[in-house]
Amino acid sequence: MNGKLHERAQQLMAKRRIESVSDEEQVWLAAHLAECEACTALDAQTQSALSAFRAMNIELPRNLAERTQLRVRLRAEELPARNPGRFFLWAIAGVSWLLGLASAPLVWRGFEWAGGQLGLPRIVWQAGVVLWWLVPGIVATGTILLQKWARTNVTE
Ligand SMILES: [Zn+2]
Repeated sequence: MNGKLHERAQQLMAKRRIESVSDEEQVWLAAHLAECEACTALDAQTQSALSAFRAMNIELPRNLAERTQLRVRLRAEELPARNPGRFFLWAIAGVSWLLGLASAPLVWRGFEWAGGQLGLPRIVWQAGVVLWWLVPGIVATGTILLQKWARTNVTE
């Protein structure tokens, strides 16, 4: 069995946690896991790390992103049309979440690689992945709040 097969299996395992995989990919992965101890062990290890996250009440980024997008949309709908600047900020917040989702498998693998190079425990680099997702949203929200605060204080 060559390294490319394991690489593909690991990509699919990461992808499966973040988005859905096709039936064909699912079948391929199941077949690979059935005969590959290394990938099965990796999958189990990742699963237990993620369970530990859930036990710590940290929700998976996917749920967080969905809820935030909903909030951004609701917020955008109630904005008056005369305030395009604010809408623009919310749009940026939404786009940053979408980009975060799109780059998710890549980010996951990047952190996994870096964690392996530095010899970090899985929980540490996985916390890094979570932060990667949270930070753009926090920055965007902070900007909006700051803008709101500034306007309130200027008009008074
Ligand atoms: Zn394998």
